[in-house]
Amino acid sequence: MSPPLLQVNDLKKHFPVKTGLFGRKSEWVYAVDGVSFEIARGETLSLVGESGCGKSTVGRAILRLFDVTSGQVILDGQRIDDAHPSTMRQMRQRMQVVFQDPFSSLNPRMRVRDILAEPIRNFGLAKSAADLETRVTALMDTVRLPREALNRRPHEFSGGQRQRIGIARALAAEPELIVCDEAVSALDVSVKAQIVNLLQDLQREFGLALLFISHDLAIVEHMTHRVAVMYLGKIVEVAPRREIFAAPRHPYTKALLSAVPLPEPGAQRNPIILGGDVPSPINPPSGCRFHTRCPYVFDRCRTEEPQLRSAGGEQWVACHLDALPAG
Ligand code: SF4
Repeated sequence: MSPPLLQVNDLKKHFPVKTGLFGRKSEWVYAVDGVSFEIARGETLSLVGESGCGKSTVGRAILRLFDVTSGQVILDGQRIDDAHPSTMRQMRQRMQVVFQDPFSSLNPRMRVRDILAEPIRNFGLAKSAADLETRVTALMDTVRLPREALNRRPHEFSGGQRQRIGIARALAAEPELIVCDEAVSALDVSVKAQIVNLLQDLQREFGLALLFISHDLAIVEHMTHRVAVMYLGKIVEVAPRREIFAAPRHPYTKALLSAVPLPEPGAQRNPIILGGDVPSPINPPSGCRFHTRCPYVFDRCRTEEPQLRSAGGEQWVACHLDALPAG
């Protein structure tokens, strides 16, 4: 078996915050607290969970948008988390990002031509001015935008078209991995589907690996190979798409999936309503972090943290229950 393209080992990112009256107290936000996973070449792994669970922080840590607290991020056998800036520059070419909001991630003063030319120039990919022009026009074809639009600025496009420009900009660097951070969340339902289809086509065409960060399980269901579910800074379940949607095992995954609409008209899942709010990542619960909301909680859950263990095949679950609830 070939080695994974991306390996994340026991990744932690803790942020200092000031709390209390007049901000006199210093505390830590345990945004990501021991996360491990791998992504193969050409694979899509979806990282899902509620807002604030730490999934976007994982994406940003992989891209080294900040230094991690501890753990390792390894791209194609090379450490990123402690890489020298000169090495990091080469690594950045190999992993790109598409953000949620193309309004704020595209410079409104630049024409599309310059937005796409910038990464090609930065990474020295074009052999000549003619090659640069060929690459820029080919990118427009690839993301199915008209070439005439190269001279327009971002505000002249719809949200979906702007996201296509964001994808083209990511592709301009010829990456092997793209982190899609809630990349379709702000789009209308029909546009979402078009962008997801485009990403799938590009993945097939270029052999791209995708880390698809999303809170929208209905979208994930149609486009991912595997799913990793996060809760309060930890992965609680990871499994191939078919297994996790057919038979989620972790009580939190079961609750999340129970809210996903079924495709058949009129069909409904039995909704599982969780009690209480998501606890603060400043002071996460002891033991299993889900124990304050779990319908199956028992004594051990309050004191001992469950580790990911195999629930059969490639399905891994962090839960103390001996007989994990199926389906
Ligand atoms: Fe629920 Fe306990 Fe399993 Fe956590 S370890 S999910 S609290 S049963």
